[in-house]
Amino acid sequence: MSRVAYVNGTYVPHGQAVVHVEDRGFQFADGVYEVWSVFDGKLADFDGHMTRLARSLTELRIAIPMTRDALTRVLKETVRRNRVRNGIVYLQVTRGTARRDHPFPPEGTPPSVIVTARSMSAVKAEAQADRGVAVITQPDIRWGRCDIKTVGLLPNILAKQAARERGAYEAWFVDDMGLVTEGSSTNAWIVDEHGRLRTRDTQANILRGITRAAILALVEQEKIELDERPFSVDEAKRAREAFFTAAGAFVMPAVSIDGTTIGDGTPGPVTRKLRTLYLDQAKRGAI
Ligand code: PMP
Repeated sequence: MSRVAYVNGTYVPHGQAVVHVEDRGFQFADGVYEVWSVFDGKLADFDGHMTRLARSLTELRIAIPMTRDALTRVLKETVRRNRVRNGIVYLQVTRGTARRDHPFPPEGTPPSVIVTARSMSAVKAEAQADRGVAVITQPDIRWGRCDIKTVGLLPNILAKQAARERGAYEAWFVDDMGLVTEGSSTNAWIVDEHGRLRTRDTQANILRGITRAAILALVEQEKIELDERPFSVDEAKRAREAFFTAAGAFVMPAVSIDGTTIGDGTPGPVTRKLRTLYLDQAKRGAI
């Protein structure tokens, strides 16, 4: 089936979906993005991602390119045209196209907006979640505004590639104190050796994950004991359970960290419960 992308107001065949050579996203990574997971045809955590998008744009002083309703229509239409039932929809907004020059382009330069959607195998994801996956650690070498979801992802890409080359699914970033910050494209969690659920607080230089927020609401609903505090790599290796969250991965169990087996080497009960609850919620999703 042929794929379709939305590029600056038009739906075009994926193979012909291009932006200008002087798009500031291409030249400076001067742009932001969002990813929604599509689960059973519904966009999970729709509002949360929309709100974070608006915040990212505001923080970088990129103009909001279109109304929320118009953007919602484009996201849904891109999902529809690509016949995605399970997968992701990706949105990127950049500061537009202008002669290459570091300062902002002239007032009124329209932002570029692109949307793509693709199917992902729910069966494969379920198999990975059943077995659990491997995680490695990498030094966190990123800039000081990781709360903004910019397309400047070079450290994340290098970390993810290091993970792949070592047969792992994800890399967890570690700060100078030996504390885990977050994953290269996920938020990191453990159930520590005392049985307390731990994840780093968002005062730190990390992305405020929308899936993380949804899980925190479920944690409260289920009255699971939570300690929103950083944890070290050593604590993670001694943990009963480890997992990470993101749109697309949902709740993914980690069963080894840098080759050390976590718990009994299988996904733990808290992780499995949170995954099930989250997927049930996504199935009943808003749009
Ligand atoms: N941290 C980073 C660095 C990410 O790139 C992502 C995925 N966008 C996340 C965390 C998870 O965020 P979300 O749950 O909003 O997908």
